[in-house]
Amino acid sequence: MEKGRLLLFPLPFQGHINPMLQLANILHSKGFNITIIHTSFNSPNKSSYPHFTFQSFSEESLAGCTSLLGNVKDIILLLNLMNKVWFDPFLDCVKRLLSNSSAEDPIRCLISDATLYFTQAVADLLKLPRIVLRTSSLSSFHVFHAFPLLLQKGYLSMEDSESEAPVLEAPPLKVKDVSLTFKIEGEALDVMLSGLMSGTKAASGLIWNSFEELEQSVLPNIQQEFPIPNFTIGPFHKYFTASASSLIAQDQTALSWLDMQAPLSVLYVSFGSLAAIDKTEFFEMAWGLANSKQKFLWVVRPGAIRGSEWLEPFPDELLEAVSERAHIVKWAPQQEVLAHPATACFWSHCGWNSTLESICEGVPMICSPSFGDQQTNARYIEAVWKVGLVLENGIEREEITRAIRRVMVDKEGIEMKMRISSLKEKANTCLTEGGSSYRSLESLVSFILSF
Ligand code: UDP
Repeated sequence: MEKGRLLLFPLPFQGHINPMLQLANILHSKGFNITIIHTSFNSPNKSSYPHFTFQSFSEESLAGCTSLLGNVKDIILLLNLMNKVWFDPFLDCVKRLLSNSSAEDPIRCLISDATLYFTQAVADLLKLPRIVLRTSSLSSFHVFHAFPLLLQKGYLSMEDSESEAPVLEAPPLKVKDVSLTFKIEGEALDVMLSGLMSGTKAASGLIWNSFEELEQSVLPNIQQEFPIPNFTIGPFHKYFTASASSLIAQDQTALSWLDMQAPLSVLYVSFGSLAAIDKTEFFEMAWGLANSKQKFLWVVRPGAIRGSEWLEPFPDELLEAVSERAHIVKWAPQQEVLAHPATACFWSHCGWNSTLESICEGVPMICSPSFGDQQTNARYIEAVWKVGLVLENGIEREEITRAIRRVMVDKEGIEMKMRISSLKEKANTCLTEGGSSYRSLESLVSFILSF
């Protein structure tokens, strides 16, 4: 018998589309029919999902929204704008879907990205249960929740001399992590965070792309802060790969190049789909990589170096210095790269998907967090799970070279590899019958069927 239909609404960014479409596949495999609601902006690749129905809604024009993507402040502005101007067209769209639904295929609930907090008011108006998908770690959401307290305690206005001090209210963060996490203090951030928190608290349930064993220490805090049913059912990409929902073509030469390298000899470098660096940082990265004398596979996303199309700032002398040891692509099949036997280390911006993908393949990390949840993820990698290092001084060639050697050559790196291999095993176990994520998914399915 059919279990009914679910409406899923992802935030249209790569790091949010991937987990929402993976979740859609997971729930489809449990017998639910799926409708993905989407916008024309970063519209998902429908041909990879012939088993889903897609419904676009005619959003107000977000003319120029791509030009808003240049820096963090603009991402927050863009999110707030989406939450404002999408209300009416989204309401119309869901109303239409409800009135066209049939008794044989009833719509059970809406599952929307937590950052699209306006959807709670739509769900309330239409008396449709709403479940939230939070695509970050529990620990970073706990830090977001603590923002008013951290602000009140003065952590955002501390002297530079305090920057290495611990944040007692949010371990293992350092003072400098707080200002980097919330670097765009001000009204836009307040609007975003309060919408995110109240929209999540008002939801019927909360789904996490994480697993209990990884974030045990913070789970009780989250259950207290969000006293609704919480479902830790991840890691999603172990059920379905992220490749199907990639918005950019993945360059498969990354894999053929890795095939020619020795086991555990390559550093994989990628800063995800949004983070950008300036030209000076790019040179520092390139020289740090060149001086490490290690092989590396580097994803340089077009537009990731501010003010350049792609690799134009790369000086010829540097290209020559690294040509034997490097392969550079615009976008890689990341999950497969991390799973490749040649990959030894991942220098990452610590987006949550990248962090989880690396943990699940047992690949230690070098961390260059940029904004939002990335600072907390990086501190957990270094100080809680002890499976990587944070570059403390931004992007600076000598520190880069030292960090690469510490993880890829020194004894320290071997210990990190052992610890992350044990997390990898836990990630595998939690999905098997009786495991924590397996059980949580079973309760999520029963929960949805109770609507
Ligand atoms: N990704 C990819 N190819 C790349 C770089 C990234 O397919 O060259 C994928 C990666 O596997 C992950 C997502 O893009 O699933 C990035 O999400 P994350 O949360 O790590 O970072 P964001 O892009 O949201 O900052």
